Amino acid sequence: MRRQLVVELRRKGITDEKVLDAIGRIPRHLFIDDSAFHVHAYEDKAFPIACGQTISQPYTVAFQTQLLGLRPGDKVLEIGTGSGYQTAVLALLGVKVYSIERHRPLYLETRTRLERMGYKATLTHGDGYLGWPQFAPFDKVLVTCGAPFIPDALQAQLRTGGRLVIPVGEGSAQEMIAVDRSGPESFERQSFGAFRFVPMLADRAR
Ligand code: SAH
Repeated sequence: MRRQLVVELRRKGITDEKVLDAIGRIPRHLFIDDSAFHVHAYEDKAFPIACGQTISQPYTVAFQTQLLGLRPGDKVLEIGTGSGYQTAVLALLGVKVYSIERHRPLYLETRTRLERMGYKATLTHGDGYLGWPQFAPFDKVLVTCGAPFIPDALQAQLRTGGRLVIPVGEGSAQEMIAVDRSGPESFERQSFGAFRFVPMLADRAR
Protein backbone atom coordinates (compact mmCIF):
# COMPACT_ATOMS: atom_id res chain seq x y z
CA MET A 1 0.00 0.00 0.00
CA ARG A 2 2.91 2.33 0.72
CA ARG A 3 4.44 1.60 -2.66
CA GLN A 4 1.08 2.36 -4.26
CA LEU A 5 0.97 5.69 -2.42
CA VAL A 6 4.43 6.58 -3.75
CA VAL A 7 3.25 5.79 -7.29
CA GLU A 8 0.28 8.10 -6.75
CA LEU A 9 2.43 10.96 -5.41
CA ARG A 10 4.80 10.61 -8.36
CA ARG A 11 1.81 10.76 -10.72
CA LYS A 12 0.62 13.93 -8.97
CA GLY A 13 3.98 15.60 -9.65
CA ILE A 14 6.28 14.89 -6.69
CA THR A 15 9.79 14.38 -8.12
CA ASP A 16 12.15 14.47 -5.12
CA GLU A 17 13.33 10.86 -4.83
CA LYS A 18 14.48 11.26 -1.24
CA VAL A 19 11.07 12.53 -0.18
CA LEU A 20 9.32 9.70 -2.06
CA ASP A 21 11.67 7.18 -0.47
CA ALA A 22 10.89 8.49 3.04
CA ILE A 23 7.15 8.29 2.41
CA GLY A 24 7.66 4.78 1.07
CA ARG A 25 9.28 3.74 4.33
CA ILE A 26 7.20 5.37 7.08
CA PRO A 27 4.28 3.36 8.50
CA ARG A 28 1.66 6.14 8.33
CA HIS A 29 -1.05 3.99 9.96
CA LEU A 30 0.88 4.14 13.24
CA PHE A 31 0.39 7.92 13.30
CA ILE A 32 -3.41 7.60 13.29
CA ASP A 33 -4.94 6.65 16.68
CA ASP A 34 -8.34 5.54 15.47
CA SER A 35 -7.68 2.08 14.04
CA ALA A 36 -10.89 2.35 12.00
CA PHE A 37 -8.85 4.57 9.68
CA HIS A 38 -5.87 2.19 9.40
CA VAL A 39 -7.13 0.52 6.23
CA HIS A 40 -7.26 4.01 4.67
CA ALA A 41 -3.89 5.22 5.96
CA TYR A 42 -2.19 4.90 2.55
CA GLU A 43 -4.84 6.80 0.67
CA ASP A 44 -3.79 10.32 -0.25
CA LYS A 45 -6.11 11.94 2.31
CA ALA A 46 -6.03 13.85 5.58
CA PHE A 47 -7.55 12.06 8.61
CA PRO A 48 -8.70 13.16 12.07
CA ILE A 49 -6.29 12.89 15.01
CA ALA A 50 -6.65 14.05 18.65
CA CYS A 51 -7.76 17.57 19.69
CA GLY A 52 -9.84 18.10 16.55
CA GLN A 53 -6.72 18.25 14.35
CA THR A 54 -5.71 16.30 11.25
CA ILE A 55 -2.76 14.32 9.93
CA SER A 56 -1.89 16.13 6.69
CA GLN A 57 -2.54 14.59 3.30
CA PRO A 58 0.59 12.74 2.05
CA TYR A 59 0.67 14.88 -1.12
CA THR A 60 0.76 18.01 1.02
CA VAL A 61 3.53 16.57 3.23
CA ALA A 62 5.53 15.60 0.13
CA PHE A 63 4.93 18.96 -1.58
CA GLN A 64 5.96 21.03 1.43
CA THR A 65 9.00 18.85 2.13
CA GLN A 66 10.12 19.02 -1.50
CA LEU A 67 9.66 22.81 -1.45
CA LEU A 68 12.02 23.11 1.53
CA GLY A 69 14.95 21.92 -0.61
CA LEU A 70 16.57 20.13 2.34
CA ARG A 71 20.27 19.47 2.65
CA PRO A 72 21.61 16.84 5.05
CA GLY A 73 22.35 18.40 8.42
CA ASP A 74 19.92 21.32 7.95
CA LYS A 75 18.34 22.64 11.13
CA VAL A 76 14.59 22.66 10.56
CA LEU A 77 11.81 24.21 12.65
CA GLU A 78 8.33 22.72 12.20
CA ILE A 79 5.24 24.52 13.48
CA GLY A 80 2.37 22.09 14.19
CA THR A 81 3.77 18.70 15.23
CA GLY A 82 0.30 17.10 15.16
CA SER A 83 0.61 13.35 14.67
CA GLY A 84 4.37 13.59 14.07
CA TYR A 85 4.13 12.12 10.56
CA GLN A 86 5.73 15.14 8.88
CA THR A 87 8.28 15.23 11.71
CA ALA A 88 9.20 11.61 10.93
CA VAL A 89 9.61 12.41 7.22
CA LEU A 90 12.01 15.22 8.12
CA ALA A 91 13.94 13.06 10.59
CA LEU A 92 14.35 10.30 8.02
CA LEU A 93 15.79 12.83 5.56
CA GLY A 94 18.71 13.41 7.90
CA VAL A 95 17.94 16.92 9.14
CA LYS A 96 17.84 18.15 12.74
CA VAL A 97 14.17 18.67 13.57
CA TYR A 98 12.68 21.04 16.13
CA SER A 99 8.90 20.95 16.31
CA ILE A 100 6.29 22.95 18.23
CA GLU A 101 2.70 21.89 19.00
CA ARG A 102 0.00 24.10 20.53
CA HIS A 103 -2.19 21.29 21.97
CA ARG A 104 -0.55 19.77 25.03
CA PRO A 105 -2.20 16.30 24.82
CA LEU A 106 -1.10 16.02 21.19
CA TYR A 107 2.44 17.09 22.07
CA LEU A 108 2.65 14.46 24.84
CA GLU A 109 1.18 11.67 22.75
CA THR A 110 3.38 12.41 19.74
CA ARG A 111 6.54 12.73 21.82
CA THR A 112 5.98 9.19 23.11
CA ARG A 113 5.12 7.89 19.64
CA LEU A 114 8.23 9.31 17.94
CA GLU A 115 10.49 8.10 20.76
CA ARG A 116 9.02 4.61 20.59
CA MET A 117 9.42 4.49 16.80
CA GLY A 118 13.00 5.75 17.02
CA TYR A 119 12.61 9.05 15.13
CA LYS A 120 14.86 11.73 16.60
CA ALA A 121 13.32 15.19 17.01
CA THR A 122 13.30 17.91 19.65
CA LEU A 123 9.68 18.68 20.54
CA THR A 124 7.97 21.27 22.68
CA HIS A 125 4.50 22.42 23.68
CA GLY A 126 4.19 26.10 22.79
CA ASP A 127 3.04 28.82 20.47
CA GLY A 128 4.44 28.59 16.97
CA TYR A 129 3.87 32.30 16.29
CA LEU A 130 6.91 32.93 18.47
CA GLY A 131 9.19 30.38 16.80
CA TRP A 132 11.85 28.83 19.02
CA PRO A 133 14.46 31.56 19.69
CA GLN A 134 16.74 29.32 21.80
CA PHE A 135 17.57 27.17 18.76
CA ALA A 136 17.51 29.89 16.05
CA PRO A 137 18.67 30.49 13.41
CA PHE A 138 17.11 27.72 11.32
CA ASP A 139 18.02 26.72 7.77
CA LYS A 140 14.40 25.92 7.04
CA VAL A 141 11.07 26.65 8.73
CA LEU A 142 7.94 24.64 7.88
CA VAL A 143 4.46 25.63 9.01
CA THR A 144 1.85 22.84 8.81
CA CYS A 145 -1.24 24.86 9.77
CA GLY A 146 -2.94 27.72 7.92
CA ALA A 147 -1.50 31.05 9.10
CA PRO A 148 -3.50 34.30 8.84
CA PHE A 149 -0.25 36.16 8.08
CA ILE A 150 3.51 35.47 8.00
CA PRO A 151 4.70 35.81 11.60
CA ASP A 152 7.70 38.14 11.93
CA ALA A 153 9.42 35.83 14.42
CA LEU A 154 9.55 32.99 11.89
CA GLN A 155 11.22 35.20 9.26
CA ALA A 156 13.59 36.62 11.87
CA GLN A 157 14.68 33.13 12.96
CA LEU A 158 15.57 32.12 9.40
CA ARG A 159 19.27 31.96 8.50
CA THR A 160 20.34 34.09 5.51
CA GLY A 161 20.01 31.72 2.55
CA GLY A 162 17.25 29.84 4.35
CA ARG A 163 13.63 29.19 3.35
CA LEU A 164 10.29 29.39 5.15
CA VAL A 165 7.39 27.35 3.74
CA ILE A 166 4.02 28.51 5.04
CA PRO A 167 0.37 28.16 3.96
CA VAL A 168 -1.17 31.63 4.30
CA GLY A 169 -4.82 32.58 4.45
CA GLU A 170 -7.91 32.28 6.58
CA GLY A 171 -11.03 30.37 5.61
CA SER A 172 -11.24 27.21 3.52
CA ALA A 173 -8.09 27.58 1.38
CA GLN A 174 -4.52 28.72 1.94
CA GLU A 175 -1.85 29.82 -0.51
CA MET A 176 1.43 27.95 -0.23
CA ILE A 177 4.16 30.57 0.13
CA ALA A 178 7.93 30.09 0.12
CA VAL A 179 9.90 32.95 1.67
CA ASP A 180 13.62 33.02 0.86
CA ARG A 181 15.87 35.08 3.06
CA SER A 182 18.33 36.32 0.46
CA GLY A 183 20.07 38.80 2.78
CA PRO A 184 19.86 39.98 6.37
CA GLU A 185 17.08 42.42 5.46
CA SER A 186 15.74 40.93 2.21
CA PHE A 187 12.97 38.38 1.89
CA GLU A 188 11.60 37.10 -1.43
CA ARG A 189 8.18 35.48 -1.69
CA GLN A 190 6.90 32.98 -4.23
CA SER A 191 3.49 31.37 -4.40
CA PHE A 192 2.87 27.67 -5.08
CA GLY A 193 -0.90 27.31 -5.33
CA ALA A 194 -3.83 26.54 -3.08
CA PHE A 195 -3.97 23.97 -0.26
CA ARG A 196 -6.23 23.28 2.68
CA PHE A 197 -5.02 23.29 6.31
CA VAL A 198 -6.43 23.43 9.84
CA PRO A 199 -5.96 26.96 11.22
CA MET A 200 -2.87 28.19 13.03
CA LEU A 201 -4.27 29.03 16.45
CA ALA A 202 -3.88 32.21 18.47
CA ASP A 203 -1.90 33.59 20.34
CA ARG A 204 -1.50 35.92 17.45
CA ALA A 205 1.36 37.93 18.86
CA ARG A 206 3.47 39.23 16.02
N1 SAH B 1 2.37 18.02 10.64
C1 SAH B 1 1.16 17.52 11.20
C2 SAH B 1 -0.01 18.39 10.80
C3 SAH B 1 -1.01 18.48 11.89
S1 SAH B 1 -2.29 19.68 11.63
C4 SAH B 1 0.90 16.08 10.80
O1 SAH B 1 1.40 15.64 9.77
O2 SAH B 1 0.19 15.38 11.52
C5 SAH B 1 -1.55 21.16 12.23
C6 SAH B 1 -1.12 21.18 13.68
O3 SAH B 1 -0.74 22.52 14.00
C7 SAH B 1 -2.21 20.79 14.68
O4 SAH B 1 -1.76 19.72 15.45
C8 SAH B 1 -2.40 22.06 15.51
O5 SAH B 1 -2.71 21.79 16.86
C9 SAH B 1 -1.05 22.75 15.36
N2 SAH B 1 -1.06 24.20 15.62
C10 SAH B 1 -2.05 25.09 15.34
N3 SAH B 1 -1.70 26.34 15.73
C11 SAH B 1 -0.45 26.23 16.28
C12 SAH B 1 0.44 27.18 16.88
N4 SAH B 1 0.13 28.47 17.01
N5 SAH B 1 1.64 26.73 17.33
C13 SAH B 1 1.98 25.40 17.21
N6 SAH B 1 1.16 24.47 16.67
C14 SAH B 1 -0.04 24.87 16.20
